[in-house]
Amino acid sequence: MKYSRPRGTQDILPPDIHVWRYVEGVFDATFERYGYEPVRTPIFESTDVFLRSVGEATDIVSKEMYTFNDRGGRSITLRPENTAAVIRAFLENGFHRRGGITRWCYTGPMFRYDRPQAGRYRQFHQVGSEVIGSLSPLLDVETIDVVTTALEALGFTDLVVKLNSVGCAECRKSYTDILRSALAKLQDRLCEDCDERALKNPMRVFDCKRCEDVKAELPSISDHLCQGCAAHFDQVKSNLDAIGRTYEIDARLVRGLDYYTRTTFEILHGELGAQNALCGGGRYDDLVEQCGGPSTPAVGFSAGLERIISVLPDQGSSLASRGSDVDFYVICLDDASAPRALRAARVLRAFGRAELDASMRALKKQLRNAERRGARVSLLVGGDDPDRVIWKDMEKREQIEIEDDGLLAFAERFCEGDNG
Ligand code: AMP
Repeated sequence: MKYSRPRGTQDILPPDIHVWRYVEGVFDATFERYGYEPVRTPIFESTDVFLRSVGEATDIVSKEMYTFNDRGGRSITLRPENTAAVIRAFLENGFHRRGGITRWCYTGPMFRYDRPQAGRYRQFHQVGSEVIGSLSPLLDVETIDVVTTALEALGFTDLVVKLNSVGCAECRKSYTDILRSALAKLQDRLCEDCDERALKNPMRVFDCKRCEDVKAELPSISDHLCQGCAAHFDQVKSNLDAIGRTYEIDARLVRGLDYYTRTTFEILHGELGAQNALCGGGRYDDLVEQCGGPSTPAVGFSAGLERIISVLPDQGSSLASRGSDVDFYVICLDDASAPRALRAARVLRAFGRAELDASMRALKKQLRNAERRGARVSLLVGGDDPDRVIWKDMEKREQIEIEDDGLLAFAERFCEGDNG
């Protein structure tokens, strides 16, 4: 083999692709019911889009971005996440001037130079939403509800929603001082990275997987919320209660991106463990302004499709095997009949998936392929009769001869019988 795919990437091929399309379809349908409109933005952006929004001291920006200069000497980054890019598109296209609430959703690949391991890739796919234009805690609740509803529609039952509030810029100011002095006392126990985090951006210590013991001793932001943020958090909780959505408070959940304010949440699944969330999200009330727009609060989530698919309940694998099945398998028995076989396959495509076997191999071999492809009907074209084809019902093991000209009407009746 001359070439192999880059480390940390995957080829998504049949039959697995059918599971992917199914999962994406469930998210699309759920978003539609909640009134979210899909958006597509470039997979690369100017590096600046991510630098300050995600935060220079975060792991994503400091260690994980695919950044390069293009031939025009511009610094370009493959998007490591989509919120900053969606906000860039929101502003650049003037949506902030429309007022009201914008509900957008997206699906697509993201890129992070992370250490590849189970559930962690360098190219992975996220589905997510952004609700832009309101401070209302009802929209934090809606965001948690829309993703949980989609996951439930996929068959998940044992989901845990972890919830926290990281406050606003105001409460963060006084909390950061408190955190700094707590970290100074624990300095000899911090890892090298956290030594630096403590200086540059102390909240990022909470992202560290090596300093778990130290983290447990640090003061938590939720004990230092200002009045407004505390009231907002209370309303998020009481409205989640009101719609019967359960959650666990996790006072140390700060999420690895700087732009979050107030609500943060993650959705965990038992099989993946605490380090591997299915989904993460939260409020980011300052990001639009930081990106050069007017002060516009917003809230969103993103969920990892690889992780969702890796623990998808039962129906996933059966879909994978059924997804590439054909309805009609057109068997051509000789070269001279090829035009008739082509025409027959085109007729049948009005009624379902029709595949033409172009091998001209022996009937037995082609029939074996029809079975392998899960065909319900095989259509035999050629042989002795120049005007008739043989319709072979693969399930009932019955066959009937029909005129070429009668194929359309016959297929129609066959499919009506199906539906009736
Ligand atoms: P984040 O953008 O870091 O908040 O992550 C949101 C979700 O994306 C996570 O909960 C994961 O499901 C998924 N995710 C993040 N990073 C990766 C990765 N390297 N590989 C696969 N999935 C990921």
